[in-house]
Formats: sequence, structure tokens, C-alpha cells
Amino acid sequence: MHLNIPKKVQKALIHEFLGWMRLPEDKVRLSSSPHPFTTGIAPSDVRITTRYTETLESFFTAIHEAGHALYELGLPNKYVNTFIYTQASYGIDESQALFWEYHIAKSRTFWEAYWSLFVEQTGIAVDLDTFYKEVNLVRPSFIRVNADEVTYPLHIILRYDIEKLLLSGALKPKGAKGVWNKMMKELLNITPRSDNEGILQDIHWATGDFGYFPTYALGNIYAAMIRKQIGKEIKEFDRHTRALDFNPAIKWLIHHIHRKGKTQTPSTLMRRVCGSELQPKVFLTYLKEKYEEIYNF
Ligand SMILES: [Zn+2]
Repeated sequence: MHLNIPKKVQKALIHEFLGWMRLPEDKVRLSSSPHPFTTGIAPSDVRITTRYTETLESFFTAIHEAGHALYELGLPNKYVNTFIYTQASYGIDESQALFWEYHIAKSRTFWEAYWSLFVEQTGIAVDLDTFYKEVNLVRPSFIRVNADEVTYPLHIILRYDIEKLLLSGALKPKGAKGVWNKMMKELLNITPRSDNEGILQDIHWATGDFGYFPTYALGNIYAAMIRKQIGKEIKEFDRHTRALDFNPAIKWLIHHIHRKGKTQTPSTLMRRVCGSELQPKVFLTYLKEKYEEIYNF
């Protein structure tokens, strides 16, 4: 959705949300970069970036990165300078970003609560239903980083299957492009027109990061499990969201996830916090419930 919201207004929206996330301004810096990221320089110095376009991408990206920043700032100070003063895993780290991006910032409850404030600041002339649907638009796409949360895991499955074939020796690098295009057709029913929007779009394999992609999909699954658990433990979660009060969720995340650092494996952490190890079903149920409401199926 090309909203043409001025960059200054986009920035103001982001800072407003970061305030609700209780990110201290003296510890977190927001900048812009072509490929957004979060980096922890020191326990009191976390930097995040976002990317400004004519859509609302900057907003959701900043919130995603802020989720990483909140985790970084919540790590247990008593373990600083040790190997456990870090995130439980890349997958758990990603879950903290996806929780804020999808389960809060792209939720209907949030937009119903935020709508009048948002319209007042942006002056956009769209109705809430159209906007909400647009924000959660599902469609096959070539580029993983721009994919919606429903098709996103398919991009990961494609890469992970190719990684396994390459590492087992069943597939030579030369043949990888053919398998990529074939799988893309099977999974998303689209065929890349160039390698830019196909096999050469990521930096991971070029820098030797094999086996990294699944952490993103694990993050999706963990985030859904965490959202479900928070819903059980914070009975008034939706009411808090309607009041744009995220404090109870922040406290929960800090207490159950962030303060644990890397003292536990992701499996143990999830078992203790959510009652079970990785449960893809929880993610699938979340997708079904959310998108059947949006798409009326
Ligand atoms: Zn992330």
C-alpha cells in the first residue's frame, strides 16, 4: 500500500511505538540502512535500523528490530562478559522480533486501538478493514525478506531442502539453481525471471552460513507459542493492547525469556515457559484463525 507518508511522520510513528515498548532513548539508537538490523555494542548501547519507503515498511521493520533490542537489553547483567550473556538461540531471538511485529503490530486488536491516533497523524484516507487486510496481505513472492508470514516458511523450506541436498553431496552447486526454480514453482507457483529474485538473493550461502535459514521459521513457531502462552497467563492481554499498554507483555518477556540469557537450550526454555518443545501446530492454528477471519474462508 503506497501511503506516501512523509519520512518525518514515519519517524514520529516509530518513536511513539518504541516509547510504548519502553525502549530507553539513552540506550537505543534508531538509524536507517538499506538492510535493517539490530546490533548490541554494549549492555547499555543497542542500535537498530530501519528502511524508509513509500509504504509503512519502516514502521513494522523498526518494531521488528526493536523486539530484538528489547531482548538484548533484557539479558541478565550478572552474566555480562560470559558466554551465557546472550540470546538463547537465533531462533528464540527471531521470535522476540516476530512477536512484536506480527502478534502485536500486525494484529487487529492493535489497529483497532491505534487507528484514530494513526489517522490523525498520517491523514490517510483508507478504512481500517482495507488497511488491516493490506498489512496482512498474503501472496506468493520471490524475495524472502519481503514475504508475508504465511508464505515465508515456504521460502525457508525451499532453502533448507537445498542445503541438505548440497551438504549430503546429492546435489552439486551447479544444479542448485534448477532445483531452486523447480521448488519455487511447486511451493509458490512462481518462477524467478532472474537469479537476483531467485537463488542469488540472499547473502547467507555466499558467506558460508549453511543451516541458518531454519532459525527464521523456528522464530515464527516460537513466537506463536509465546503469544499463546502470554494469552493464557495475562488474562487481560487484549484489554491491555486496546489501551496501548504493553507493559504486562514486556514484563512477561523479560522475566521468562530475556533474563534467562543462554542458561538453557531453546528446547528447555520453551518447555519451561510454554510447557512443550517446538510445536509447529500452534503456529499453523494461529495462521488459520487469523487468515480465515481476514480472507473469509
Ligand atoms: Zn529479525
